[in-house]
Amino acid sequence: MSLRKRSVIICDIDNVLSHDAWRRRLIIPVELSVHRHDWARYHAYHLASAMDEANFIPEMASDMRSRYEIYFFTAMPEAYRRVRASWFIKNGKRPSPDHIYMRANDDTRSSVDVKRDMFRRLETKVDRCHISAAYDDRLDILEMYATEFGIKTIHRSLHEQGHYDN
Ligand SMILES: [Mg+2]
Repeated sequence: MSLRKRSVIICDIDNVLSHDAWRRRLIIPVELSVHRHDWARYHAYHLASAMDEANFIPEMASDMRSRYEIYFFTAMPEAYRRVRASWFIKNGKRPSPDHIYMRANDDTRSSVDVKRDMFRRLETKVDRCHISAAYDDRLDILEMYATEFGIKTIHRSLHEQGHYDN
């Protein structure tokens, strides 16, 4: 029997906590790229994330720390882990690196596929019944959590610019 006291929250980062609207223009359009999954297209976009404004969910407030354990699921590649960590630190948060799940550098699958695998990885540590909600700005990702795993989902987006194309 689990003795877990805290509810687990899954939370996306870009456009949920990190205001990335200003740097969307740094994504190189697909027609100018070498191939469809050319990750160099996103390099400037990801690098600039350290400068985003932060807008955290209520469950991340310091007085909520005893009630919620947050796992961050981001489709940003591992190569940018230090950039993302510096953004958290700059905004007064220090999540444990093992609570930040990032895309493997060579993984060019859709974000839905990447986050489905992140969910399965989380399930090796946490029972599904302890996951109280999942936040994302993308409806396709939320639908996957809800229909495939029965998780309560919360749609949250800091802007309406649409997601990038993977
Ligand atoms: Mg997002």
